[in-house]
Amino acid sequence: MPVLSGNERKYVLDCLDSNWISSIGSYISKFEDQFAKYLGVKHAISTNNGTTALHVALLALGVKPGDEVIIPTVTYIATANAVSYCGAIPVLVDVDPVQLNISVTDLWAAITDRTVGIIPVHLYGHPACMPEILEMARAKGIWVLEDAAEAHGAEVAGTKVGTLADCSIFSFFGNKIITTGEGGMVTTNDDSLASKIRLLKGQGMDPNRRYWFPEIGYNYRMTNIQAAIGLAQLEKLDEALEYRQELARWYNEGLKDVPEIVLPTSLDGYKHAYWMYTIYLKNGDEVTRDALMQNLANKGIETRPVFYPMHAMPPYKQSGKFPNADYWAYRGINLPTHQALSKDEVQYICSAVSSLV
Ligand SMILES: *Cc1c(COP(=O)(O)O)cnc(C)c1O
Repeated sequence: MPVLSGNERKYVLDCLDSNWISSIGSYISKFEDQFAKYLGVKHAISTNNGTTALHVALLALGVKPGDEVIIPTVTYIATANAVSYCGAIPVLVDVDPVQLNISVTDLWAAITDRTVGIIPVHLYGHPACMPEILEMARAKGIWVLEDAAEAHGAEVAGTKVGTLADCSIFSFFGNKIITTGEGGMVTTNDDSLASKIRLLKGQGMDPNRRYWFPEIGYNYRMTNIQAAIGLAQLEKLDEALEYRQELARWYNEGLKDVPEIVLPTSLDGYKHAYWMYTIYLKNGDEVTRDALMQNLANKGIETRPVFYPMHAMPPYKQSGKFPNADYWAYRGINLPTHQALSKDEVQYICSAVSSLV
């Protein structure tokens, strides 16, 4: 549930009053500049959603038909689909237990002569093991694209995600940590990647020659209204992250004595953005998990299952190589994790979970 309690209304009304409602206007550059400044990265390039951000980033990185791009099997479908849009092959890799981020040992084994890059996903707000991933990529001469769609403000050793790799993407969909309704951002420190991404998202138009199109591009532009909302959201991002840390502490406290479940943890040196607070059933299966979710729903508590792995989806169907995903993804439940939750509500959810498991 988005919280729109800051300058959202004021900035949107400013767009309406000034007539700047399309994809030109001062809020676009303000939002991009402030987002880049917040992360500590050189370039931030807005797009109309996180999926198109992934698509243009992959094209700018030079992904071609037949190339192999490594992704974790547990992610939102957009990561896999964006690779497919380029005609490339998403190579699925198993995940670590509990964090459900890409397994670095399995990742190493998945690199072939056709691998051009890796997309680690910071699942539910906990960063993937970036130092190990970057080291492997450097050793193999391939790029890394962070899918930080769920991890605005998350950190590895004090540095924010979205600045760690060759290129990164964020989503501002309505349920993400900050939102523009629909929207996305690509971030990079690389000047030539940045200009390529700007060209591709704006129909491929030459920045120095109006209506001259040296290559096929896309219309993936964000509107000034979206950027106005985004700027107001960004002003409150640190507050949002603090509240999410607090929520996680309340949940940890309320659930620590429930032996049937595994609680989310952050690895040492990693800052979890807690887009989702995820618990896992130690025993049972998908059926028991879904029954628990139904029982929670009967008490007025809306929860979400962890994403089905990509290798279970018809377009990417495979089996055999994903024991951790096959075990943990089907036992995971995302508890309510939004800023309108009070401590009492969290305690109500915790007692419901402990009485029902
Ligand atoms: C939300 C999300 C996306 C895509 O973002 P949209 O803005 O919905 O297109 C990509 N990757 C991950 C991991 C996501 O959670």
